Amino acid sequence: MRVGVISVQGAVPEHIRMSEAALRAMGRKGEVIAVRRLDDLRAVDCLIVPGGESTTISKLLRKLGLFDEVVRMGNEGTPMMGTCAGCVLLAKEGGEQAERTGTELLSLMDMAVDRNAFGRQRESFEAPLHIEGLDLPFPGVFIRAPLITRVWGGCRVVCVHQGEAVMARQGSLLALSFHPELTEDPRLHQMLFELV
Ligand code: GLN
Repeated sequence: MRVGVISVQGAVPEHIRMSEAALRAMGRKGEVIAVRRLDDLRAVDCLIVPGGESTTISKLLRKLGLFDEVVRMGNEGTPMMGTCAGCVLLAKEGGEQAERTGTELLSLMDMAVDRNAFGRQRESFEAPLHIEGLDLPFPGVFIRAPLITRVWGGCRVVCVHQGEAVMARQGSLLALSFHPELTEDPRLHQMLFELV
């Protein structure tokens, strides 16, 4: 299996390291590549859109000519996981902040998000999360995290923290408002790879 990590800005090395650990833990052969070119993008079996700055990542995806191909692949069923800024980009609606910054979203999932929903007081925090499909709690690391404010159509919330949706799934697409790549827990990367 070939795993791609969109590599234009943000938490790229962390996702590569965790993807390699997850493949090892599953006993699956595979390769993890940093994606910056169309040829590389087209060659992956699943894709990670990392955290960082959603406006910057969106602009760079356009500039490098990757944007439309990510959309096409997502619509055609390539498994994808978006974390934090990546979660924002997978959404169809990015709220007032996305509009104000003119952030173009990939619009692959039937959900609305609120960027930086936690505000300055709680810029970053950690909390154990109960995620559908996982037996034991997952260590949630939140950094200037978005929230999923609404889902519709084929999109389903699969994790709620203090009454707020922090993870959603639509077919083979996973959106997480937190950062699994900053933990020592490969289970969510494994969940993505199992969709391949
Ligand atoms: N709030 C940031 C954004 O919307 C995301 C932060 C992150 O990825 N850690 O771009």
